[in-house]
Amino acid sequence: MYDKTIFAKIVDREIPAEIVYEDELALCFRDAQPQAPIHLLLIPKKPIPRIAEAVAEDSSVLGHLLTRIPLIAQELGIIESGFRVVINNGPDGGETVPHLHIHLLAGRPLQWPPG
Ligand code: 5GP
Repeated sequence: MYDKTIFAKIVDREIPAEIVYEDELALCFRDAQPQAPIHLLLIPKKPIPRIAEAVAEDSSVLGHLLTRIPLIAQELGIIESGFRVVINNGPDGGETVPHLHIHLLAGRPLQWPPG
């Protein structure tokens, strides 16, 4: 058994989110505390805790998530202007929700390196 994360509750529609994309494997919704004009979270419906715990059987769902990004970016009109994808992992990575999620940030020039 595992404790249901806030993202699993969003998948199950137990708490609301502004969903921008959904299919049988993936869900994409707006971050509640956006760090850029566009800040989305793209998650697998399968509750993989973090990228450090992904296993070989997760390859297809992870590939699926990555190949959704250009579709979502096209829909949001940020293909030409650009965007950043980020996966935070563990305490030093800044992970706060233990359900794998890809941040998609766009809508302003983003600094590098991150803080
Ligand atoms: P992390 O820090 O784990 O990489 O990212 C977690 C993200 O989830 C944060 O950017 C945070 O703002 C977002 N977040 C946390 N709780 C909620 C929520 O209930 N709804 C939405 N839409 N985003 C959330």
